[in-house]
Amino acid sequence: MPQTPTSSASSPDARTPLPTDGSAAWFERAHRVTPGGVNSPVRAFNAVGGTPRFMVSGQGAWLTDVDGNDYVDLICSWGPLLLGHAHPEVQARVAEAVARGTSYGTPSRSEVELAEEIVARTPVEQVRLVSSGTEATMSAIRLARGFTGRDVVVKFAGCYHGHVDSLLAEAGSGLATHAVAGTPGVPAASVEATVVLPYNDRAAVEQLFAQRGGEIACLVTEASPGNMGVVPPEPGFNEFLAQTCARHGALFVSDEVMTGFRVSRQGQWGLDGAREGWAPDLMTFGKVMGGGFPAAAFGGRADVMGMLSPQGPVYQAGTLSGNPVATTAGLTTLRLAADEVYAHVDAAAATVSAAAGEALTAAGVPHLVQHDGNMFSVFFAPQVDRVVDYVGAASQDTAVFRAFFHAMLEQGVYLPPSAFEAWFLSAAHDDRAIGHVLDALPGAARAAARAHEGDTA
Ligand SMILES: *Cc1c(COP(=O)(O)O)cnc(C)c1O
Repeated sequence: MPQTPTSSASSPDARTPLPTDGSAAWFERAHRVTPGGVNSPVRAFNAVGGTPRFMVSGQGAWLTDVDGNDYVDLICSWGPLLLGHAHPEVQARVAEAVARGTSYGTPSRSEVELAEEIVARTPVEQVRLVSSGTEATMSAIRLARGFTGRDVVVKFAGCYHGHVDSLLAEAGSGLATHAVAGTPGVPAASVEATVVLPYNDRAAVEQLFAQRGGEIACLVTEASPGNMGVVPPEPGFNEFLAQTCARHGALFVSDEVMTGFRVSRQGQWGLDGAREGWAPDLMTFGKVMGGGFPAAAFGGRADVMGMLSPQGPVYQAGTLSGNPVATTAGLTTLRLAADEVYAHVDAAAATVSAAAGEALTAAGVPHLVQHDGNMFSVFFAPQVDRVVDYVGAASQDTAVFRAFFHAMLEQGVYLPPSAFEAWFLSAAHDDRAIGHVLDALPGAARAAARAHEGDTA
């Protein structure tokens, strides 16, 4: 449809704004009692402006807010809801679990069954359950340090591993020599033993291990980064990391909190390690394995995991770890996450990502759609041909995304409110939900085009 700068009210680009009075009122109340009005920063609209919507219910692929607006959800709780909202079977099992009591503070059956399911799907021999991905990576690093008797932790710029002090580090000016705290409140001492390298950069990894291999406790990486937008590992990169760590007696920690049980039955490891014949020493999981409840895990080689208390000397604990309701939700979700589920999510993601690319091309917006299995993201007007690291990811024009985001939201599609996030689909994204997204894309692409022209004018 040809667009003129003064498009009429009947144009999809200029419909009446959705009502947001209810969300705005709740956001104001929230601001009085909570910093920034949210309990996790990404939920605020700081990167895109405007009012985050206060949801009252989720059903399948859809969210409904306090003003009665419906949205197709492309966040899926930031990954966990592989089956969509309010899956009837998950709800039924959770209701039964709740009826039996919400926490025992003793061992219980569902935590063993969830651990068995994780061990069956992945190369880990043993797991320890925790309540968040942050706890999982924090504990994995403590264990790696305890096991190796070394202090240095290597991570990649743009990879997020939760808000662990030593991992909230940024590359210092002398890249590969020192890290600086990524936020006030993290003492320099906490990142002193952290080294930050550029992602996908084999030479940087080789050089660091050649110089300091004997000091390195572990290298931690997102199995396929999704927290700077989707930036998949170059073919063989994870295998190279595993081998490099092994050669120097360091542990390879693969963070699959986002990718685990999402990009395949076996997570990212199912897409590379299982085929190439290698396994991480330690892995971390969260999101999907909690089925929408706070549950996460770290696991790996039995000899390493055996160092954990009470079996070994490395202390780690949690009042609600292995909670019977959360583990029931996670276990039910994983048991339902069969091959058909992954086939459906893969196909849905392929349809939506292709349509997003086509709409942006048709509107003349430079962009890159990057995939890792069914996880994908769109980089808006990046300065590179392919995003392989954080510098490339950061080269995009976030003002273009902002325009696209709000045009999608107005048409009832809830995208992650940041240009640096993956878009998530679920088994509940059916033809109606996907059709709704496809209908919204051309108008949003035109809004992005106007923002891009404004920026380049
Ligand atoms: C979400 C995420 C975490 C942190 O998990 P929380 O449950 O939010 O603490 C860690 N690592 C990766 C790769 C993640 O995507």
